[in-house]
Amino acid sequence: MVGFDGRVIVVDLEKGSIKRVFADKHHLNLFLGGRGCASFLLYQMVKRGMDPFSADNPLIFGVGPFTGAIWPSSSRFVVVAKSPATEGLGYANAGGFFGPYMRFAGVDFLILKGRANRPVFILVCDGRIEIRSAVDLWGKPVYETEQVLKDEVGGRRVSVACIGPAGERMVRFASIICDEGRVAARAGMGAVMGSKLVKGIVVSGEGRVEPKNPEKFEKVSKEAFSKVVENPILRGYREYGTSIIILPKNDIGDLPTKNHYDGTFRNAHNISAERIHRLLGIVPSSCFSCPIGCGRKVRLKLNGEKVFEGMEYETIASLGSNCGNSDARSIAEMNYMCNDLGLDTISTGVVIAWAMECYEKGLLTKEDTGIELEWGNAEAMKEIIRQIAFRKGFGDILAEGVKRASQKVGRGTERYAMHVKGLEIPMQQPRTVKMFALGHATSNRGADHLYALPTICYPWLREIAKEWLGLSDEELDQLNDLDSWKQKAKAVVFSENLCAVADSLGLCKFPLIESYALPLSTLVKGYNALVGSNLTPIDLLKAGERIVNLERMFNVREGFSKKDDSLPERFLVDPMPSGSSKGSVVELGKMLEEYYKIRGWDPASGVPKDENIRELGLKFD
Ligand code: SF4
Repeated sequence: MVGFDGRVIVVDLEKGSIKRVFADKHHLNLFLGGRGCASFLLYQMVKRGMDPFSADNPLIFGVGPFTGAIWPSSSRFVVVAKSPATEGLGYANAGGFFGPYMRFAGVDFLILKGRANRPVFILVCDGRIEIRSAVDLWGKPVYETEQVLKDEVGGRRVSVACIGPAGERMVRFASIICDEGRVAARAGMGAVMGSKLVKGIVVSGEGRVEPKNPEKFEKVSKEAFSKVVENPILRGYREYGTSIIILPKNDIGDLPTKNHYDGTFRNAHNISAERIHRLLGIVPSSCFSCPIGCGRKVRLKLNGEKVFEGMEYETIASLGSNCGNSDARSIAEMNYMCNDLGLDTISTGVVIAWAMECYEKGLLTKEDTGIELEWGNAEAMKEIIRQIAFRKGFGDILAEGVKRASQKVGRGTERYAMHVKGLEIPMQQPRTVKMFALGHATSNRGADHLYALPTICYPWLREIAKEWLGLSDEELDQLNDLDSWKQKAKAVVFSENLCAVADSLGLCKFPLIESYALPLSTLVKGYNALVGSNLTPIDLLKAGERIVNLERMFNVREGFSKKDDSLPERFLVDPMPSGSSKGSVVELGKMLEEYYKIRGWDPASGVPKDENIRELGLKFD
């Protein structure tokens, strides 16, 4: 039986030593677990200006108090390090089974320090930690690595998180993959792992999560499961996964098309949920303890049959509409390739879309690229994906991420580089959905839809917004008008805080934030029974606010400020060509002004004030 005591394992890869310590109880209370605690550890361990590929940049795997508990969608783990994409705070998060099994093995945080002198993998097995040779695995793709390591360790309840060739070559958007395609994708955590010569982590454990008050927890957990199962929004995800949103987003002009130029893709029906499910024989799959099952198992004939987790919305749009590609089968092939090579599909699609737009505009030529990169050329995309992962040819430039690639090429290509703080922009059209425009701009890990996930602006969540944002009917109308900038700052601040809570507790955002199926009141009852506390929903949100402020402080120390809370010029200047927001641009200045005011940050610099830091308990010196 395992509680959440903050059991930390520090692996010093240089010395080959392993140390066990406990996280400070006070810090566990302040930051909840998972992302919050790992960000705090990173804040303490990283010195200003440190190169993300320096051996001193720690790579921290963490779980939250709910990870592995019998509670809806309690599968998440987080990986935190200084990001090679943004050079600010980086983290990535994934579901599957890795997080629960790590916890069952008796580890809450695993810190990898230093750099090994040869490729290794780390075994975490029921309290036993070993550093083992991975010399024979170096160079192998993800699926083969996963299988070899599972076979080597044997037994049930085994999960592997590993990198592919892209991580080994420190591609700045390399990911860490577990459980056949659950991906800790963003901010280049796979590149940091590769820089340490760590090929994989294998976790295996027979433990079970022990709530402080088991009877109470079981009762609240039952209540939570029935709320999730009965929720109509989540039912659609069970049937079609996140691909269900492709056509509705296209209808309003929110399906990024041709490097975020547009939001309406003429051939969207070719990549719709129904079509890809029919064409690719997709079946649902679930992470640990998840009644939703938004995951998709894809069977693909590709040099034999490949079965993998994938074809979620972000991947389909990144490698599809955003590159002008409507060939669903080719998207599935590229999804498999990205997983197997260890690449973030969002960043991969966005760097390719940038190269395609520049090629079509004549800013890049075949002399630069070696490949004809016209819109929708799926064969060229596959070739360039291989080149990125192995840092060959033009792919070596793209492997640096779109910000650095455009700076290297110059010639005005920087204008078409879709990133915030160096992280490629996911599949929302900021001119159509203004809450995501602000959410991408303010996110401390660079552009990301899951840092804020401000779905609370959607009209079907109006009652929730009324309860939590305290808006009048007129203000709620403004909030629900997705094209209006008004009230979006309030929604983004609230959602950022709540996302930090979910990530730190080890929970998936679907029941909590995507759908609000699980009310905060139920969550806090479950949390109190789980860890033996007496918090209120407001206390939980305060912890979320603390985590967001801490992450901002990390970035401020690295020299980030208001100038980095920005968006590409395209969204600020070029009127939206189609959709429900046709003619619209993003009024970022107005939204930021309100955002800083609500946060209590200095409006001129976007930096937390001393009184915020003190009030949140973040004054450490
Ligand atoms: S909703 Fe989807 S991503 Fe979240 S835990 Fe369930 S299967 Fe995993």
